[in-house]
Amino acid sequence: MSYVDEVYAMVVEKNPAQPEFHQAVKEVLESLRVVIEAHEDEYRKDALLERIVTPERQLLFRVPWVDDKGQVQVNNGYRVQFNSAIGPYKGGLRLHPSVNLGIIKFLGFEQIFKNSLTGLPIGGGKGGSDFDPKGKSDREVMAFCQSFMTELCKYIGADTDVPAGDIGTGAREIGYLFGQYKRIRGLYEGVLTGKGLSYGGSLARTEATGYGLLYLTNALLQDHGQSLSGKTVVVSGAGNVAIYAIQKAQQLGANVVTCSDSTGWIYDKDGIDVELLKEIKEVKRARLSEYAAAKPSAEYHEKKNGEHGVWTVKCDVALPCATQNELDLDDAKALVANGVYAVCEGANMPTTLEATEFLQKSGVLFVPGKASNAGGVATSALEMSQNSERLSWSFEEVDQKLKGIMENIYKNISAAAKEYGMEGNYVAGANIAGFLKVADAMKAQGIV
Ligand code: GLU
Repeated sequence: MSYVDEVYAMVVEKNPAQPEFHQAVKEVLESLRVVIEAHEDEYRKDALLERIVTPERQLLFRVPWVDDKGQVQVNNGYRVQFNSAIGPYKGGLRLHPSVNLGIIKFLGFEQIFKNSLTGLPIGGGKGGSDFDPKGKSDREVMAFCQSFMTELCKYIGADTDVPAGDIGTGAREIGYLFGQYKRIRGLYEGVLTGKGLSYGGSLARTEATGYGLLYLTNALLQDHGQSLSGKTVVVSGAGNVAIYAIQKAQQLGANVVTCSDSTGWIYDKDGIDVELLKEIKEVKRARLSEYAAAKPSAEYHEKKNGEHGVWTVKCDVALPCATQNELDLDDAKALVANGVYAVCEGANMPTTLEATEFLQKSGVLFVPGKASNAGGVATSALEMSQNSERLSWSFEEVDQKLKGIMENIYKNISAAAKEYGMEGNYVAGANIAGFLKVADAMKAQGIV
């Protein structure tokens, strides 16, 4: 059996019932095959792959908190410190009922390569809880965040592990988490990113993942002699990534006609009204049906039987910005039948392995999230730099740096794919470029 196959089999055996983690490992190892085979003896002897697929540390803890009725609730807390070869662990905290150890491990594993691709000194980590902030009062969210941080604060710090937002963790949650960290540890430091502007946050961090996605998509299209101007774009999701992806796509001249949440999706032929979407999602924290109620040009479709409606809409560019495995083989077939030109992932692993293969075989340009959504964590690293020098940069300065980082990522993944004989395969390019830097650092640091 080849080294790659052996390590994949070991991952499946040692991490039972973690299908998303297996999927993320499979995608990475498969596309590294040529690189691994070229260095097989050396990597095998150093157990490099076994080390890279095994988290350095996994923290699992109880999170008890009191709800508004006086009832005690208990959630699971997680932080997986996956790899610190190139910098302190860095990655978000996901708060969603679907969270389990396998989900956090898949996200932490992806984060290693994504963070490496940014070119900035950040290692890979991820955390979260099965707590659902949806429908909770502000006080309940605060109680949860304080309890979560009471335990987590023992293991994190500005130079060791720097969590941030992800699904379910936005500005409100980061504020409560930061307050509790400072209170217990007595340290005013950049231990979290995505902070509010009044207490050490960075301008453009809120917009960064969505804007970055579009900077990369734009670079991809330009490299193929195209532009976003006049293109029809389909977006899924209605959270932080989707909102700012829609906004930047519109600024670049595209017509964005869809968005979605867990209950339904919107088709608005006149283009999504971002201000209305923000009001509904960020201020009212309400459902998308309210969008259609407020805008006559919009159609609202209820999501039935797991159907992912936005992918049936004819488009030139598709940007999955909701969650993992939201775009399956049937969706990919619908997109191809409608003549889609490019798919760039805004979420983490939103496309299944079968769908990815189908899109690539059909000649669709496909960029994986670890490259195309890296703008969020890249700007988090810029927030860390500003915190370290106790200065803050202007919006334009951060935005320009973000644009440069995304254009560089595109160049690097494109060049890596070409160098290893897989021109245009950006999945392989991203995995190879991300891996080589981490592997080099791991080798230099010895067996740790
Ligand atoms: N959760 C985001 C991601 O998936 C951002 C992480 C961060 O800023 O540390 O990359």
